[in-house]
Amino acid sequence: PLILGIESSCDETAVALVRGDRTILSHRLAGQEAAHAPYGGVVPEIAARAHVEILPSLVEGALADAGVKLTDVDAIAATAGPGLIGGVMVGLVTAKALALAANKPLVAVNHLEGHALSPRLTDPDLAYPYLLLLVSGGHCQLLRVDGVGQYRRLGTTIDDAAGEAFDKTAKVLGLGYPGGPRVEAAAMEGDAKAVPLPRPLVGTPDPHFSFAGLKSAVLRAHDAGIHSTPDIAASFQQAVVDCLLDRTKLALHLAGPVSALVVAGGVAANRAVRGALEGLAAANGLRFVAPPLWLCTDNAAMIAWAGAERFMAGHSDPLDVAARPRWPLDPSAEKVRGAGV
Ligand code: ATP
Ligand code: MG
Ligand code: FE
Repeated sequence: PLILGIESSCDETAVALVRGDRTILSHRLAGQEAAHAPYGGVVPEIAARAHVEILPSLVEGALADAGVKLTDVDAIAATAGPGLIGGVMVGLVTAKALALAANKPLVAVNHLEGHALSPRLTDPDLAYPYLLLLVSGGHCQLLRVDGVGQYRRLGTTIDDAAGEAFDKTAKVLGLGYPGGPRVEAAAMEGDAKAVPLPRPLVGTPDPHFSFAGLKSAVLRAHDAGIHSTPDIAASFQQAVVDCLLDRTKLALHLAGPVSALVVAGGVAANRAVRGALEGLAAANGLRFVAPPLWLCTDNAAMIAWAGAERFMAGHSDPLDVAARPRWPLDPSAEKVRGAGV
């Protein structure tokens, strides 16, 4: 089937056309970095308005790039949550209008499932079940992915997400927004052993994460005024990598047999993170799979692909399906000390 996918849950507006055989016919993406940069983070109202303004032209552009008409599409998929609710509603309402106009089925996609299945779009050999480290701006979770819509959460963050820690560290260091790639670039010039920083929860018996203390330690190190920005960035990145590695190693032992170790989400674009996980997979005789960098951060190809997987499994949704600000992949997972989804 041919699926049109729409993403609008945060500060990227994106539209893609993807086929069930993994062909990406087209993908368009409009970032909003300039609009949010003066505020040092995403402003929900500005984001929602920007999605409204740009989305129609992205739909037209993606269809034109692919050389197809709306009537050639077999289903319309859109992120229905979790995310900034105003933006999610813009994308979902647009998808509903297109589905109604062209008389096509609608597939409501969980944004996290978009990230979780994205490695399967570019790797046809990646089979279920796999252990997934989902590291993004809003989430840091270890999940066993058993199939479409089938997730078992082994661990999650009890406070901040890993991407959030990168963004906050960038802000403290005056590197600006968005933070992840800038911290990574600064870290390349620094000494990862220069600043002693904590490794929260490392060695504890459940594979959970905590990054709030690390962020405070970065703030103290910066305020002390003795360390260079590259040294703090490198030491911070190493601390995050050590936490991710230790917790993922534990989860591998708890997950049972899996076909591969997989990383997805925006922080999966970080080369130090990818390198460390690749080493862990090799040490365990497992395949390591990570999407190409452009598929790690938010995009619509992953939403179209998750929509394709759902559609091929027989799922579609009514036109009155609701947008959901919160939507856990594993609803049966217990809350961990105040953790979110
Ligand atoms: P979620 O998917 O949890 O709803 P989101 O959609 O905002 O959150 P993504 O787009 O998946 O998150 O990822 C964005 C996050 O990834 C940001 O926090 C950003 O700083 C981080 N990030 C992007 N590139 C890098 C990098 N090279 N190194 C570290 N972090 C990165
Ligand atoms: Mg973004
Ligand atoms: Fe995301």
